[in-house]
Amino acid sequence: MPHVHDLVGIGFGPSNIALAIALDEKRHAGRPLDALFIEKQLSFAWHPHMLLDHAHMQISFLKDLATLRNPTSRFTFINYLHEKGRLTDFANLKSFFPSRHEFNDYLSWAAEQFEDACAYGEEVFEVLPEEKGGEVALLRVRSRNHAGKLVERLARNLVVSIGGMANIPDGFRTLRNDPRVFHSSSYLQDIAQLPDARRIAVVGAGQSAAEIFMDLQGRPGAPQVDLVTRSRSIRPADDSPFVNEIFNAEFTDYTFSRSDEERAALLDEFWHTNYAVADLELIQQIYKAFYQQRVTGGNRLRFLRRHDIRNVTADDQGVHLALWDQNALREHTVRYDAVVLATGYVREHHKALLAPLAGYLGSYEVDRHYRVLATPDFHPAIYLQGACEDSHGLSDTLLSVTSVRTGEIGSALLATPAGAAVHLRPEPEAVQP
Ligand SMILES: Cc1cc2nc3c(=O)[nH]c(=O)nc-3n(C[C@H](O)[C@H](O)[C@H](O)COP(=O)(O)OP(=O)(O)OC[C@H]3O[C@@H](n4cnc5c(N)ncnc54)[C@H](O)[C@@H]3O)c2cc1C
Repeated sequence: MPHVHDLVGIGFGPSNIALAIALDEKRHAGRPLDALFIEKQLSFAWHPHMLLDHAHMQISFLKDLATLRNPTSRFTFINYLHEKGRLTDFANLKSFFPSRHEFNDYLSWAAEQFEDACAYGEEVFEVLPEEKGGEVALLRVRSRNHAGKLVERLARNLVVSIGGMANIPDGFRTLRNDPRVFHSSSYLQDIAQLPDARRIAVVGAGQSAAEIFMDLQGRPGAPQVDLVTRSRSIRPADDSPFVNEIFNAEFTDYTFSRSDEERAALLDEFWHTNYAVADLELIQQIYKAFYQQRVTGGNRLRFLRRHDIRNVTADDQGVHLALWDQNALREHTVRYDAVVLATGYVREHHKALLAPLAGYLGSYEVDRHYRVLATPDFHPAIYLQGACEDSHGLSDTLLSVTSVRTGEIGSALLATPAGAAVHLRPEPEAVQP
């Protein structure tokens, strides 16, 4: 008999590490689950190509992998500091926002403690139905390791926590293989391949664009850097206390219980807490850099605001962006040695991985426990983390509710380790006129 895992988790980022912790801490609630996580990176790293030296967390360290679910967990950020011998010194910083480097180290420290539960260096590329008696009894998870070898595993439950995929605007798709055009998610790796780039465009008006602009403008060799945005300004992220309540774990219940229209309105109302916004402190640093340039003179840094990218071409000379200036109502073309697309992420890739199951899963709607609704002949349970913003709210793609969410998923898994899909409501029968 082939081995069947109670749970296979795809991805071993913060969401599935937090799930591993929650399951570990709940193991007395039932029989321990046989869980295996599959991670495509060779070892743990949290957005490694955006680990910029001056970047820090946009969320309180109390929203770590465990504290909000179980403040007594040994996996809290505070215990990590204690084990590393830095607890008092961290307190002296008087900050809730560790550097991104330190948070990555914290996450790595937690991941290391589940080394045996994770297969690194394998990318899952599809999940197939495993049928028995005409019904789907199990899932066959297919991955490929770095040597190209196919690996298959059977599972009763699946948790898909794969994060976002780079959002590449249409005009740039044909240049996907051009090393001079790349997304912020591979920034540090790709910019290192272009040490001679003298003219660089950063496209976008969010946190990543702002961080990359500051990183580039301060580099030795002082390249010319254009920040190209459609918007008129860089807006600050609103993390004031009343607004921040939308990221409270209890707010998930409220969001989930609203009508589709109300939820859409909520997302719209609070969109700028997370998207197309940057830290106020960072915005001030950028403003200061431009002001300093006015004092000393020069045109090395430019803020091309209200500029639409109308066309993109590339040749031996560089990448040419045809820019429509909404203020001057004119188009001009600028040549760049590198273009960084800080254009955000899309969170649809679970549909590609689960495509062979599409006939059973309807529109990938989830229940309150993040479980995808399925047809009655489909028995394994599939949970989604980070792809439920429409149903569960803006906190879904962030760390805000990770510890609580994984507690909920963990409880659901332990209650039905054999896998139990929630079923789609049958289509109402057509009424004959
Ligand atoms: C630069 C940056 C900074 C951020 N800072 C913050 C912050 O300060 N606060 C905050 O709340 N949120 C922040 N976020 C949001 C971020 O989504 C969360 O912090 C967190 O990373 C979500 O965890 P995750 O595990 O769901 O996704 P991810 O961290 O994206 O992890 C997904 C994992 O799945 C793996 N994977 C993907 N596809 C496959 C596959 N097919 N097979 C196997 N493995 C796969 C990936 O390699 C990755 O390790 C930031 C995001 C970015 C990009």
